[in-house]
Amino acid sequence: ARAQAMQIDQSPKVTYEDIGGLEEQVQEVVETVEDPLSDPAQFKTVGIEPPSGVLLHGPPGTGKTMLAKAVANETDATFIKMAGSELVQKFIGEGAKLVRDLFELASEHEPAVIFIDEIDAIASKRTESKTSGDAEVQRTMMQLLSEMDGFEERGNIRIIAATNRFDMLDRAILRPGRFDRLIEVPEPDWNGREAILQIHTEDMNLGDDVELGTIANKTEGFTGAELSSLATEAGMFAIRAERTEITMSDFDDALQKVSEEDNTNGTPIA
Ligand code: ATP
Repeated sequence: ARAQAMQIDQSPKVTYEDIGGLEEQVQEVVETVEDPLSDPAQFKTVGIEPPSGVLLHGPPGTGKTMLAKAVANETDATFIKMAGSELVQKFIGEGAKLVRDLFELASEHEPAVIFIDEIDAIASKRTESKTSGDAEVQRTMMQLLSEMDGFEERGNIRIIAATNRFDMLDRAILRPGRFDRLIEVPEPDWNGREAILQIHTEDMNLGDDVELGTIANKTEGFTGAELSSLATEAGMFAIRAERTEITMSDFDDALQKVSEEDNTNGTPIA
């Protein structure tokens, strides 16, 4: 069960250069996660504790997982990922046990970055109903907080959580000594979109008429994940036309296609 629920990656391939936009967010992650991992003595000398946990929040597909992987890569740390939804167990005590296993696994693989995606699944504002399921979720959260309290001495483990439902979070987890550093990871602005397009078209055989800035103009509201699939889709149009070069019209066709797909889902698109 452990192997199923937790994903371990000894050396994730993502680097900061693979992340478009988000310069400030990268900077914050470096200060709060990378520096404490690579130079813990610095904090000891100054006499401060690095933040226990960092919480990344923002829409899906904006690069939160990439940030966590990049910092693990940069510090040669093991990347251990678990989804909050997987911690929500049906059986009493299972969730708390998985949390214990998670931290045990991390200490076996120090230095390590623990990434808990969808933290809201175990840390949502409590509803009125006091069902047994609720109590179990609560226990899982308490276990996480107590592991976090205990791991300061371990030093070489940092914890990053992510959510795209920040407003739903139980504020208790944001208290000092818990997830006390918040980093917002928003949808990319124009510059971010252009940078992301640059990254995702780097290995593509683009025609001379392709202007990434123009594509950035047309993709307001797109996330990094959506821009990445747009580029792939443009490549598909070139292949269908039996061309080896991707042209601006392929990007226009791809845009047309994703906007049609989006409309069938009932969500408007820029
Ligand atoms: P979720 O909340 O759904 O887990 P996330 O914010 O963790 O989403 P990622 O998994 O980091 O999103 O991003 C998904 C994919 O989208 C990446 O693998 C990458 O291809 C692309 N992507 C997203 N954001 C960026 C970015 N800022 N720069 C480059 N690529 C990006």
